Amino acid sequence: MSLIEADSERLLAAVTSLLAQKGIASDDELVERQRVTDAASPGQGARMVARAWLDPEYRALMLADGAKAAEAIGIPMRGMPPLGVLENDAETHHLVVCTLCSCYPRAVLGYPPLWFKSAAYRARAVRDPRGILVEFGTTLPDSIRLRVVDSTADYRWMVLPMRPAGTEGWNEAQLTAIVREGDMIGVTLPQA
Ligand code: FE
Repeated sequence: MSLIEADSERLLAAVTSLLAQKGIASDDELVERQRVTDAASPGQGARMVARAWLDPEYRALMLADGAKAAEAIGIPMRGMPPLGVLENDAETHHLVVCTLCSCYPRAVLGYPPLWFKSAAYRARAVRDPRGILVEFGTTLPDSIRLRVVDSTADYRWMVLPMRPAGTEGWNEAQLTAIVREGDMIGVTLPQA
């Protein structure tokens, strides 16, 4: 083990023992949360999106309380910050960024991609959001309002994208399969 690894191990042990001492989280709870986060993937958020496209009641629940909607389809949310859901429509497109660090809806999307954590994305998503979308291959008409939303340690955000044309009559599994990670952050749009 290198010196840096030894230091980071000691820091981790100190923080986890403080969390336990203060009654914030036990070792077992931390291990469980880590296991749940390791198992999370964008496929979970995609299931929520597909369900919302098919079921207006589920869509309403998701917009009112993202965490409840996640739990309703079996995604564990215990110990996670609240989850807000931003609905795209014909007038408004949402883009999510954490300007401070890398706050990401890990419970429903898994670990953030490297670009989400990069200084370039965090700065440009705010300064030139339309420009950065073009780099992801997404060109929005000028008539669409673009809202950039800051994800924080206290509140995480995901995007409910618009259902693409050409998916009429598709079932939930088919719809789930076309929803990608970037679609739920707002850098890309689902394609049929
Ligand atoms: Fe952050």
